[in-house]
Amino acid sequence: LAQLFRPLDLLGMVYRTIRQGLIDMEAMYRLIDTRAEIADKPGAVDLHVEGGEVRFQDVRFGYDPEREILHGVSFTVPAGRTLAIVGPSGAGKSTIARILFRFYDIQAGRVTIDGQDVASVTQQSLRAAIGIVPQDMVLFNDTIGYNIGYGREGATQAQIEAAARAASIHDFIMTLPQDYDTRVGERGLKLSGGEKQRVAIARTLLKNPPVLILDEATSALDSRTETEIQTVLRDISRRRTTIVVAHRLSTVVDADEIIVLEQGYVVERGRHADLVRADGLYATMWARQAAERDDMAMEPAIPDPV
Ligand code: ADP
Ligand code: MG
Repeated sequence: LAQLFRPLDLLGMVYRTIRQGLIDMEAMYRLIDTRAEIADKPGAVDLHVEGGEVRFQDVRFGYDPEREILHGVSFTVPAGRTLAIVGPSGAGKSTIARILFRFYDIQAGRVTIDGQDVASVTQQSLRAAIGIVPQDMVLFNDTIGYNIGYGREGATQAQIEAAARAASIHDFIMTLPQDYDTRVGERGLKLSGGEKQRVAIARTLLKNPPVLILDEATSALDSRTETEIQTVLRDISRRRTTIVVAHRLSTVVDADEIIVLEQGYVVERGRHADLVRADGLYATMWARQAAERDDMAMEPAIPDPV
């Protein structure tokens, strides 16, 4: 009788594996927010990264070709430097990040990494070269260890833990019922926005890519964790080309260049001090945020949660 049941067990296992696979694929597609029609060009070659210079040349793009979102955006991030993109919500900041990753093809202009057009290299090599800490991280329905280790194929437990420590998530993981083997995602433990962001940071640390995109990467963190993470991020961005999208301007004052994006146009560019002096949109945003910071500083101190 046992013999008879075995094939059914096997079938069940296969079914579960496929189901899990489909769910992961679905999660991945949501995670990378891509469309299936983006494919490698015939004869596409692997991206070869030297320093990781990122360049946008007069990029025009709309999700719907009828409605252009980026109206000729140009910038260069020299190898190892940091570009900050700021501007109101809906300006097109995240769109720039998605285009660099080639989730979408542009309508006009050119996007290159070390002179190689992102549209003509293999997607696999392109995506291997870029690490994104997205605004909304979607976790795989798997263990938290898997979710971090996904950053690097064949990562050891020790490497996963080191990345988790650097992203200030290790201590939290150790409080979970099965620590690194705890299942997370839609069908497992639900993590808070800040916890998911730290998982994303740990994964990116492990991936160790030459090009880094931080899309309001610390927006979901409480202020103490944010300060901690900022230090980590500043450290990892120092050695690689970084594009940081930020609402909180205090995080971009050190950037090598800041571009201010408004409704798909670069309306101002320069370093922090130049932009404050220019007394335009950036200076207004800066003054407003400085006032908010002062307000917060005047509030009575809130005791630390135990
Ligand atoms: P930001 O990150 O600066 O807040 P986004 O780049 O996310 O702005 O969005 C820029 C514009 O593109 C917005 O008008 C937004 O509604 C539109 N948009 C963003 N994502 C999509 C999408 N997947 N499909 C259609 N329109 C989109
Ligand atoms: Mg955005």
